[in-house]
Amino acid sequence: MTEDTFIKPDRETKDKTKVGNYFVSNYPPFSFWNEEDVPCVESMLNSPSPGDSPLGVYYHVPFCRKRCHFCYFRVYTDKNSKDVRRYLAATMKEFQKYADAPYLKDRKPKFIYFGGGTPSFLSSVQLVELTDQMKAIMPWDEIEEVTFECEPGTLTEKKLGVLKDFGVTRLSLGVENFNDHILETNGRAHRSGKVFQAYELARKLEFENINIDLIAGMLEETDENWSDCIDRTIELSPDCVTIYQMEIPFNTTIFKNMQAEKKRAAPVADWPTKRRWVTEAFERLENAGYSITSTCTAVKNPEETKFIYRDRLWSGADMVALGVASFGHLGGIHYQNLTHIEQYCDAMEEDSSIIRRALLTTEEERFIRELILQWKLGKVSIGYFKEKFGIDLKDRYSELIDRWMKAGDLFVQVDELVLSRDALLRIDSKLHELFLPQHQDSRYV
Ligand code: SF4
Repeated sequence: MTEDTFIKPDRETKDKTKVGNYFVSNYPPFSFWNEEDVPCVESMLNSPSPGDSPLGVYYHVPFCRKRCHFCYFRVYTDKNSKDVRRYLAATMKEFQKYADAPYLKDRKPKFIYFGGGTPSFLSSVQLVELTDQMKAIMPWDEIEEVTFECEPGTLTEKKLGVLKDFGVTRLSLGVENFNDHILETNGRAHRSGKVFQAYELARKLEFENINIDLIAGMLEETDENWSDCIDRTIELSPDCVTIYQMEIPFNTTIFKNMQAEKKRAAPVADWPTKRRWVTEAFERLENAGYSITSTCTAVKNPEETKFIYRDRLWSGADMVALGVASFGHLGGIHYQNLTHIEQYCDAMEEDSSIIRRALLTTEEERFIRELILQWKLGKVSIGYFKEKFGIDLKDRYSELIDRWMKAGDLFVQVDELVLSRDALLRIDSKLHELFLPQHQDSRYV
């Protein structure tokens, strides 16, 4: 995640995919996080533990085999095993520091998320050493979910066995597309053969929950190929399918090419086409027995297949962020670590602060954050917000609810406000209406 400017549509490029972050992933916007609030994180860590309040850990692996053309993360494709070892050691020193802090003392993580970058870039030996150390620092005996993101081309039977053994419950495969030409055109490191191979091995090892990521609107995507991607997905029958609509943030190779060619619209499908593709995928997945559980996910068995990381995070859980550039949230304070690997490792080794920016949120901001994020699930519970924040959504947002209902975007179902399917796929463009006035014209999240 990076901070980017949202550019409003104009007549010429209306509906086209332009540069900028379209999807809202946090609140208040990153551009409000600052250096002045960094000491608040330290103060929070020195305050008493809140007891049993849910705790998660996000572990960031910033390495990839190759940089995808649509990638805007700071990833490293040139690091050797010595560099990787140095990074892993720095992250474990960071984790120990958190584990020793009064606020986290004796608390155990309920969920762990290995994200990147490419967590499966790490070797089997590195993964065993890393997770043994993590467990020694904070025991995993209360863990409900361990998610691990994988690039299919990095997976072998041995590595998948290691993941299963150290406790991965949710294996997430970054498939993105099943067409080799499209994968190559978009700079992906893997090809479809590796997807089928990795998926079959993972099934054989009986991972609890296998997720497949797809992207609607990659360079050179077509109606016919997209339909074929849905066929392949349904044939594989994963527990969960996550479909992102392609956005083109700054700092991507695609944007740099647009700049060089002085183009304002990205050479990918426009927003209505991407929404049509996701709609088609959702309808066909529903026909195959899946349920739609958020703006981007379809789940085969919603009673059994959960995504605890997302649900806990979106309801305000504490999350320790480990590693370069990672984002955390502790006691109502957002923070992000230093964003360059050398800076991060140097600071960790010198025992200086590795936090780049933070934001001490107000109760009001925490309420809006949860509301915004939970809208992405397609419905929000009136009772939940009343109980947790003492706010009646029907009173507070009567005008907005009325307007969304008249537009056919929303209906009320007992205790819930429910979005129409069409509104669910456009929800990120509607969420800014809920931002506080001081955040309205700012950079988006
Ligand atoms: S695999 Fe993911 S993190 Fe790595 S370059 Fe591609 S999009 Fe970026």
